[in-house]
Amino acid sequence: MKRRGVLAVVSGFSGAGKGTLMKNLLNQYDNYALSISMTTRLPREGEENGREYFFVSKEIFEEKVQQDGLVEYACYCDNYYGTPREYVESQMAMGKDVLLEIEIQGALKVKEKFPEALLLFVMPPSAKELENRLTGRGTESADVVAKRLCRAVVEAQGIENYDYIVINDDLEVCTQELHSIIRTAHRSVGRNEEFIENMRQELNVLVKGEK
Ligand code: 5GP
Repeated sequence: MKRRGVLAVVSGFSGAGKGTLMKNLLNQYDNYALSISMTTRLPREGEENGREYFFVSKEIFEEKVQQDGLVEYACYCDNYYGTPREYVESQMAMGKDVLLEIEIQGALKVKEKFPEALLLFVMPPSAKELENRLTGRGTESADVVAKRLCRAVVEAQGIENYDYIVINDDLEVCTQELHSIIRTAHRSVGRNEEFIENMRQELNVLVKGEK
């Protein structure tokens, strides 16, 4: 039977620790493939083309959209971000669980196109802790921290669209929780239609054969 991977969308407030969580999952388990997005924003210091993102011009991005080469895309803070289709589809077909670390508008588009996708939202243990983490990074000005907290207020309104929340208090505990939710998704009825159908047919044959 062909095993298809789970498409897991991970969103969360800036400062919730999504990036570290993704790295931890990838380091600990080999069933995951992290999609690398395409973006029109400029690389930050230390970022590499093809590692954090594929950094492209607006023209190239629009061309990719025209070719239907993106699973989803969204405009976030004046820049485009999108998920390249080919990688996602090929990795899932190979049975890998594909992780998309994307913001909420994109997450909703993924759910429309792939209703079986698993939508996960990473939360800090408290709002105060989120503020501490954002300030503690030491890389952002008070102004930027305030903007990100305002953005969190807006994003918090959309959490009901997600399937599960995970609370990133202890990184290890949170990583295990995320992993176990994704593992469990492999057992959903929708993802096992072929197995269920085979079972029905086998049962029919068995019952008829015994008559
Ligand atoms: P940053 O510029 O800080 O790397 O990312 C800004 C936001 O864009 C983050 O919330 C990130 O999760 C989101 N993002 C990154 N890649 C994609 C993508 O391919 N599609 C969408 N919709 N959002 C993305």
